[in-house]
Amino acid sequence: MGLFAPIAGFGVTLKQMFRKRVTITYPKHKRVKPQRFHGRHVLNRYPDGMEKCIGCELCAGICPARCIYVRGKDNPADAPVSPGERYGFIYEINMLRCIFCAMCVEACPTEAITMTHLFEMSVSNRADAIYTRGELLMSPEGEVPHPQPASKLIDLDELRQADGWMRATASSGRAAYEGVRGWTPTAGAGHRPPERGQSEHPEGEEESD
Ligand code: SF4
Ligand code: SF4
Repeated sequence: MGLFAPIAGFGVTLKQMFRKRVTITYPKHKRVKPQRFHGRHVLNRYPDGMEKCIGCELCAGICPARCIYVRGKDNPADAPVSPGERYGFIYEINMLRCIFCAMCVEACPTEAITMTHLFEMSVSNRADAIYTRGELLMSPEGEVPHPQPASKLIDLDELRQADGWMRATASSGRAAYEGVRGWTPTAGAGHRPPERGQSEHPEGEEESD
């Protein structure tokens, strides 16, 4: 046995050398993420440019990590920012505390806050990890700023990949609307196909865009 032990050892080495690797050469290569991957947040707008956030603070109230800070303010009567009475004039998320649970997304009554596929958010000081309203809010064109825009390691297209989380329910939460295409676009993600088990158009209904 002792005589053959080194040979057996080399056998193990050789076997491992030809096995399929489970690792990838990140960041050169990146894995395709699941549709409902929870990455960094964005604050969305309606297609007409209005902000979806109404400053209700429900997201901050439900956040288990206590990392959201929102302050609502009355909309100016002559130039409203959101369709509601109020809008979120301060909005901050401390990404160092966030556990990416998406409870804020679930609590939001207007689909204002959603998550994207971008997870690359390294910073060199703690202050930069607090994402402000300016870094979270998408532009009317659907672009979202990111604190490290020039980094070659960051795939900013992932800011356009909204999590598919919302598609399981209607914005009103009525089960009868499950699978019905009635969503406003989030963060430039545009139209996404229905998920498994969902139908794009309920029986007997015609498509209307
Ligand atoms: S994902 Fe979870 S922890 Fe992060 S801000 Fe939302 S509710 Fe808070
Ligand atoms: S993101 Fe949604 S839940 Fe949070 S304050 Fe704005 S509207 Fe309310």
